[in-house]
Amino acid sequence: MSGENFSNTIGSERGTEIFGGKDRAPRRPRPALTIREAARETPVFAETDVLVVGGGPAGTTAAIAAGRLGADVMLVERYNHLGGLSTGGLVIWIDRMSDWSGRQVISGIAHDYLDRLPDEAKQGPARSDWGSTDAATAAYWRQRTAAFHDIVTWSPTIDPEALKTLSMEMTLEQKVRLTFHAWAVEPIVEDGVMRGAIFESKEGRQAILAKVVIDTTGDADLLARAGLSFETDSDPTDIHSCINTAFMIGGVDMERWLAFKSGDEQGFKDFMARGRERLQYFEKPFVSWRNDVALFMGPRLSGYSAIDVEDLSAVEVRSRQLTVGHVETYRKFAPGFENAFLMLGAPQIGVRHSRRLLGLEKVSREDWDGGAVRDSEIGVSTSLAPKFPNISVPYGALVPEGIDGVLGAGRHVACDTNSHSFLREVPQCWLTGHAAGVAAALSANGGIQPRQLDPRLIQQELLRQGAYLSPSTVSSAGAASNAAE
Ligand SMILES: Cc1cc2nc3c(=O)[nH]c(=O)nc-3n(C[C@H](O)[C@H](O)[C@H](O)COP(=O)(O)OP(=O)(O)OC[C@H]3O[C@@H](n4cnc5c(N)ncnc54)[C@H](O)[C@@H]3O)c2cc1C
Repeated sequence: MSGENFSNTIGSERGTEIFGGKDRAPRRPRPALTIREAARETPVFAETDVLVVGGGPAGTTAAIAAGRLGADVMLVERYNHLGGLSTGGLVIWIDRMSDWSGRQVISGIAHDYLDRLPDEAKQGPARSDWGSTDAATAAYWRQRTAAFHDIVTWSPTIDPEALKTLSMEMTLEQKVRLTFHAWAVEPIVEDGVMRGAIFESKEGRQAILAKVVIDTTGDADLLARAGLSFETDSDPTDIHSCINTAFMIGGVDMERWLAFKSGDEQGFKDFMARGRERLQYFEKPFVSWRNDVALFMGPRLSGYSAIDVEDLSAVEVRSRQLTVGHVETYRKFAPGFENAFLMLGAPQIGVRHSRRLLGLEKVSREDWDGGAVRDSEIGVSTSLAPKFPNISVPYGALVPEGIDGVLGAGRHVACDTNSHSFLREVPQCWLTGHAAGVAAALSANGGIQPRQLDPRLIQQELLRQGAYLSPSTVSSAGAASNAAE
């Protein structure tokens, strides 16, 4: 449905409407030259069953899931930690695990993460409040990013360092071999099948050979270098195409700030006007897992490409200038921020959207209305708003067209732009990562291509690993499993 604009209806990042336009400074022209690199023999670093490239929410979950099936799993990550944007990007607001009735629909490994995080590392409503429409309870959690459309949701904020630690623990429990500081640069493709990837590290250029590869780079880097086509359309005025580097301010009294924001309407308006006057693009803080830490996931900058190195650099420069300006302005004028200090600028730039793969199936706006359950369902996502039923996510959204030996999961799964607005969220990336890990291990263990897998086998294993699927999928997966016995 073209022309619909859902940007203001999503819960995530609600209330941050400000966009910074692209800095129009002219670029230095790039010389119209090339150089020829010498052909070389590339040493093989390892052989494995499943190679996961990118250790964000999707990749970490995929590696754990494949490990649970006994596959030999390697995970290559360019930075020094797991969690991707949910840790290194400071996207610590897990929005959202429950549907509008309060039922937790994103479960399995996603559930295990939140269950195993220590109590002091998460803040969110008690289970008894999920789905509550009680006005006072919803008003309380609205201020703390866990109530939208006047309904309380399971959308906690978490400590990114605790999630890094837990992600490492959970991958190591499954004997996943972690290779950090390694940037995957090239897929190895033979006769239309991805057989592994080449990565660069301090050791130089090396190859990993795998029975199945999972591209969880967020930007589908490997699939792109394999020459595949993608969907990239995205409204430049919409938040989903914005980029920025998030930051956290420490030394804050968040309860005092919230009391000011809700109790002194004029004072709050004046403060925001002053911030805009000083900085042009001015952002409100979000709560975090602690009262003394404020989270800023903007100002969001529009008009930049997440796969253009000069744009990425420009966003870092602009984000840092705005970060420093925010710290100064809040410290000087905002109640609760008198002793504030810049605690951390995110180590990972915040990219919401770049490429979406062309899959055997996809999630589209048309799927929202009927609530139809897909035969190949591998998970159920909360919809954008209570007027829509839950969304059944099909396996084919992870299986790229035109190539074998590889799956994609996370924020580049096959979907249209409207559906991307929620399929890119952390819980949904956990969901698609979980399914990709299961499918990759089944495929590697069975010696068949991912596209040849019977989705019912994936469903049975997902259920065994605690995932949530629609009741009709549970029945058909159960029937298939009984027939096989
Ligand atoms: C500012 C901002 C605010 C957001 N707000 C919310 C929110 O409130 N709630 C919510 O749930 N979601 C939110 N999101 C969305 C969510 O954070 C992301 O969509 C999600 O983290 C994507 O997960 P992923 O695993 O697909 O990719 P990523 O988190 O991007 O992880 C990809 C990983 O792959 C690694 N990698 C990439 N390329 C390579 C390579 N070539 N070689 C090796 N490693 C590589 C990266 O270093 C990274 O660790 C927000 C996103 C942004 C940017």
